[in-house]
Amino acid sequence: MSRRRQIYEGKAKILYEGPEPGTLIQYFKDDATAFNAQKKGTISGKGVLNNRISEHIFTLLGQIGIPTHFIRRLNMREQLIRQCEIVPIEVVVRNVAAGSISKRLGIEEGTQLPRTIIEYYYKDDALGDPMIADEHIACFGWASQEEMNDIADMAVRINDFMAGLFAGIGIRLVDFKLEFGRIWENDYSRIILADEISPDGCRLWDMTTNEKLDKDRFRRDLGGEAEAYQDVARRLGLLPEGDANSVLDLETHRKKRGK
Ligand code: C5P
Repeated sequence: MSRRRQIYEGKAKILYEGPEPGTLIQYFKDDATAFNAQKKGTISGKGVLNNRISEHIFTLLGQIGIPTHFIRRLNMREQLIRQCEIVPIEVVVRNVAAGSISKRLGIEEGTQLPRTIIEYYYKDDALGDPMIADEHIACFGWASQEEMNDIADMAVRINDFMAGLFAGIGIRLVDFKLEFGRIWENDYSRIILADEISPDGCRLWDMTTNEKLDKDRFRRDLGGEAEAYQDVARRLGLLPEGDANSVLDLETHRKKRGK
């Protein structure tokens, strides 16, 4: 792994050169950041879980006709993906008020929104990912109108699909973030879903207890992050029942057992 050419290191993932042209290897780290990397930590086993969860969701989305960058999972922490040109926009889909919309507009967290909201943020850490409107995207040429139509259509379909998927396992899909990329075929480009879908970029609440099963546990110092991510993976059928600690490292395992 160490000899591979590293293309990019982000906050939670590393991208390496792939085995064939047009491919990359996406490596999932245990590192966690929040508030534009002002808060840093690690969630033991997170990379393994997010790799599995994202694989699962991207595979299902592929089956309903959403084009994605996912090719196949390679091992516990890595997946083979298609290389694409990332559109510098974070697409946030909200079904229930929480986080920044609650803060910005004074809407109580947990309020069901009368309709789904799609928001766009400019992907720029130095600027703190500011919220933008379609007008900014068109004005600065970050994506074409046609691309934005595809992105909005896909975001709605992904939301419908994921809301149902999570409802079926007793989880409310409050909101989530998507990233898209462009792939070129001769002179034409098309938009595909990129990055990852995992509890790092979704708000997932237990439907009966409202317990948070996502990165807000880390952001808000609630503890039990690894357990929450595991719970999501287990409910999705990705962990064997009764093998709760199988993806945690040995140290965490020992601590949990008090040895
Ligand atoms: O913070 P905010 O309420 O705007 O986040 C909305 C959703 O988008 C949350 O699920 C959060 O995890 C996700 N998000 C993200 N990466 C960001 C900003 C938000 O994954 N940079």
